[in-house]
Amino acid sequence: MSGLPRRTRKAVVAGAGPVGCLAALALAKQGWDVEIYECRADLRHTSRTPLLQQRSINLAISHRGIAALEVVNPATAQRFLQDAIPMRGRMIHTLSGRLDSQPYDKDGQSINSIDRTLLNIGLLDEVAASNKIKILYNHKVIGADFDRKFITVKDTRSNISFDSYFDFCVGADGSYSTIRQHLMRVVRMDYSQEYIRDEYIELKMPAGRDADGQPVFSLDPNHLHIWPRQSFMLIALPNRDKSFTCTLFAPVSVLDCIRTPEAALSWFRQYFPDAISAIGEKTLVEDFLRNPRSPLICTKAKPYHYKDRAILLGDAAHSMVPFYGQGLNCGLEDVRVLSVLFAREGVASTTFDGVVPSIDAVDEQLASTLRYYSENRHQDLVAICELAMDNYVVMRHSVTTLAYLSRKALDNI
Ligand code: FAD
Repeated sequence: MSGLPRRTRKAVVAGAGPVGCLAALALAKQGWDVEIYECRADLRHTSRTPLLQQRSINLAISHRGIAALEVVNPATAQRFLQDAIPMRGRMIHTLSGRLDSQPYDKDGQSINSIDRTLLNIGLLDEVAASNKIKILYNHKVIGADFDRKFITVKDTRSNISFDSYFDFCVGADGSYSTIRQHLMRVVRMDYSQEYIRDEYIELKMPAGRDADGQPVFSLDPNHLHIWPRQSFMLIALPNRDKSFTCTLFAPVSVLDCIRTPEAALSWFRQYFPDAISAIGEKTLVEDFLRNPRSPLICTKAKPYHYKDRAILLGDAAHSMVPFYGQGLNCGLEDVRVLSVLFAREGVASTTFDGVVPSIDAVDEQLASTLRYYSENRHQDLVAICELAMDNYVVMRHSVTTLAYLSRKALDNI
């Protein structure tokens, strides 16, 4: 065999969200040729509005996510951190207007508020700079045949579909993953999905102005602000332009009762009086009644892989409620864990067979590496999904209880 010519193996990645981009960069770094198919247009050249309507504007990146970015490129991680705002603790806003700062860590460690779109754009720039990665925007993955090793992709502008052959397929196409749907046909996958009773709405808190008219933060920028109100809550994360993005999480039954500008104003006056003065009544009412109400989903799957040829990463494998701020951090960590395993097990990025990947041959080393990943990653991911669910109660209620505050005080001694 050693005399035969080798060819570089081809990986296809569905989805150019942060996890898909990082997975592509990690595979390219290990020598694979990578093709990414992304159903949206290139984020770098489109208006931000459509994306922002779908997801939170900013998110918290923790050490878990930074460590994953560092594995692919330490400089990338440092660049993102330069744009991030460190949040060293929670700031609790009580109903009476009292502020209570609760540090996350007695040694000053922080989580970092970062613009979701800038993070994705930064990774897309890295992808564009790699000569091992080809990315096709406006290309939606609509089918997959894992036994014959191809995905079917539709160019959404021309409506022309074609098959793309692969040696290895990464499903990083988010919570409603097409790759996962097709994997379920060949894998005996345990899968569960749960919508919680609450929805979320994003509201903008504009920058304030100082005496010279310069923009200033209306709240302390180095905290994650929380207005816990037992069965619902408002949170706010800082942005670099000195605004905050606020997210209201509340049961559908509560939100359904607030239908008019008067009702919205009176409800916010009752529960979040200090937030209204920072947001401004007009902006608040307009945003509250106009911005989309989005559901919160939690999904679990097992296993994440099929033979030697497919894996689910990020939200495609595990969507969690956002209360632990770890959904993306875990997705990035998936990539780190998998690429460390590939390196440790010496998974080859080249093979002997022809240009079209051999259908019948199974690379036992790759298959056992993916099996190991599925088996060992699952417990951690289930644990973090459950922690995320539990943390909703902590954030909207327990942070104000005496028992919680005394335990926190002891932790910090
Ligand atoms: P996505 O970001 O969903 O990307 C999937 C990509 O696949 C998209 O670009 C999509 O267009 C593309 N795609 C989908 N289907 C197809 C297809 N068929 N063909 C081709 N392309 C396709 N996480 C944190 O770590 N910290 C936080 O503070 C945090 N806050 C959050 C706040 C809210 C309100 C929410 C809802 C989530 C939050 N998360 C947070 C979770 C985080 O947003 C997700 O975990 C993260 O976006 C997942 O990244 P991903 O790349 O796996 O998926």
